[in-house]
Amino acid sequence: MPTDAVEDYLKAIYRIESRAGPPVSTSQIAEALEKTPATVTSMVETLSERGLLSREKYTGVELTPAGEVAALEVVRRHRLIEAFLADQLDYEPTEVHDEADALEHHVSEEFTRRVERVLDYPAADPHGDPIPPADLSTPEDAGTALVAALDPGERGTVVRVSDRDPDVLEFLVDAGITPGRTVEVVDVTSFGLVTVRTSDGSEHGLPEAVADRVSVRRAAESTAATDGQEAGDA
Ligand SMILES: [Zn+2]
Repeated sequence: MPTDAVEDYLKAIYRIESRAGPPVSTSQIAEALEKTPATVTSMVETLSERGLLSREKYTGVELTPAGEVAALEVVRRHRLIEAFLADQLDYEPTEVHDEADALEHHVSEEFTRRVERVLDYPAADPHGDPIPPADLSTPEDAGTALVAALDPGERGTVVRVSDRDPDVLEFLVDAGITPGRTVEVVDVTSFGLVTVRTSDGSEHGLPEAVADRVSVRRAAESTAATDGQEAGDA
């Protein structure tokens, strides 16, 4: 059985790989887990000896197939617990992550299956992150970063907002930028300020670091054409 620390490392490496692709550097892991590089280096050695990571000289590490299975198990527990807290226990989206971080190490596979059944097999957690199914097949892609996906004047559907930083998440929730909502990019300045219009017509300026936390799926051409009834559309 992996320890809590092992699970936290595998989950962090999985998250970085799914956002930026492998290899993952020691400093990326250190930043994600708020550990010193020396601590990370020694854990990476342990995980490599156990066959969960493969090390590439100078560039970083990558999950092995066994490491990916172990990471997906904890990611699945984490995201199902988040969905359960929000859906059944009335937690706010900003509150579920820390609670799930604590609980994810202590629930059985049977508990996880029952949670999944009660929630009728949800595809995503409250932030829009895809929930790996019980067979641990890789969940479907979770959209593209807002600015990369949409040029000014284009619209998309928010598919996920990162839950890494509670302040950022709260800002996005207050602005109405949550999974399932439509956003239009109005303008991107040369210094990275992204102005978006939400479905109620209000506009919000997002600093680059905040916009980076939002992933969208571009609206199909047909949707944009039939959905242009809002006044003042450019
Ligand atoms: Zn979370």
